Order: sequence, then structure tokens, then C-alpha cells
Amino acid sequence: MSQSPSQVARQAFSSLNLKPELLDNLSTMGYDSMTQIQAESLPPILAGDDVIGQGKTGSGKTAAFGLGLLNKLDVKRFRIQTMVLCPTRELADQVAKEIRTLARGIHNVKVLTLCGGVPMGPQIGSLEHGAHIIVGTPGRIIDHLDRNRLDLSNVNMLVLDEADRMLEMGFQEHIDAIIDQTPHERQTLLFSATFPEQIQSIAERIMYKPVMVKVESTH
Ligand code: ADP
Ligand code: MG
Repeated sequence: MSQSPSQVARQAFSSLNLKPELLDNLSTMGYDSMTQIQAESLPPILAGDDVIGQGKTGSGKTAAFGLGLLNKLDVKRFRIQTMVLCPTRELADQVAKEIRTLARGIHNVKVLTLCGGVPMGPQIGSLEHGAHIIVGTPGRIIDHLDRNRLDLSNVNMLVLDEADRMLEMGFQEHIDAIIDQTPHERQTLLFSATFPEQIQSIAERIMYKPVMVKVESTH
């Protein structure tokens, strides 16, 4: 029997095996049930698979990868374990904000943003203090890597957010150079509103047997 989308009960986050703090924060945030892209991408993300998520703006992609990376994070290991690449500082700030909100109450999770357009000095100081999660734009991350200020050898989760926009902005080479510094045995998530040829070829190079999730609706 087929059902129209409105007849399908939306799944609760509690059906997933998430850290209890994450479930508490989701209810505080008013996220009562999963959006479609969350419902389809979170099971493979939490299982450790590489995932390509294609969905329009507003479909809830940030929480999909944010919950995945926070659930995987080993907070007791104070090393950079997650790298999230975004096209612009504004988007990186939004993503970092959502990750921090999702992470409330998980002891001492440190999220650091590394974006261009802000002075280097304070970023260098923050990097010296360390972080679990880096959210940033490719150009500035390359600047820090080139100066040996950023150790990506413990990264086990890499996220490309708005991959199509990053490629449109000419970040392909930077992205490749950043990925080269991360371990091969990592989980890679790629989110994009569109899926042009250039994204397919990057996915083939950097992902292992990715699960494809494509969603039309924003709910
Ligand atoms: P995208 O990255 O796909 O454009 P966002 O992650 O920015 O989408 O989410 C869009 C909006 O939906 C944000 O305001 C976010 O807070 C909200 N949102 C995301 N997931 C849920 C959910 N499960 N329930 C309610 N609101 C949500
Ligand atoms: Mg987004």
C-alpha cells in the first residue's frame, strides 16, 4: 500500500542510537522529529558509511552531519577528529553554532572556526589550545596547514558542506590538498544542493562506497 508523504509518521530522533545529551538537546531545540534527509542519511552516517546527501536549502542537512559527527566524537581524546569544510565564513559560523548547540552538556566539546576575513593571530592562539572539531573555509585552512599549525592526522570524519558551491568558488585544489592531509581510513560525508559532474568525480576520488541520499522535500 502506498502512502502520501503527509500520511507517513515522521520518525523520532529517539529511534536512533544517539548519545543521551544529543537527544536532550534536540528536544530543547524543538526538533521533535527528523526531516526527510535526516531520516534517510542518519542511519548510514551512524553506521559509519560514507554518505552523499543531496537536498535543497532548508532540508536540515546541518543537523544530519552535526549529529553524526558529535555521536562519533571521543571527547576524552583532545585531538582534531572532525573537519567540516564550508564555502563561506557566514555558513561556517552557522554550522559551528548549530554544532555547539547540539553539543551542549557533552563535557568540554571544543569547536573551532577557521575562516578568512578575520585576523590570523587569535586563530593561531586558539589552534595552540587545541580543538575536537574544526569548521572552516578551504583557503584559511590551507594557510594554517602550509604553516604547519594544523595537524589533521587524527581526523576520522570529514564533511564537505555545500560542495557544489565550494567547487563553483574554485576551491577544488584546496579541498584536494586538505583531504591529502587526512587519514585514508576516515568517514567522509558530502552534502550538496546539486550533483554536477564535478561533484561526482570528486566523490569517486575521496569516498568509499558512498550511500546516496537524495531528497526533494525540505520537511
Ligand atoms: P540546510 O543545510 O539543508 O539548508 P539547515 O540545516 O540550515 O538546512 O536547516 C534549516 C532549518 O531547519 C534551520 O532553521 C534548522 O534549525 C531547522 N531544522 C533542522 N532540522 C530540524 C528538525 N528536525 N526539526 C525542526 N527544525 C529543524
Ligand atoms: Mg546547509
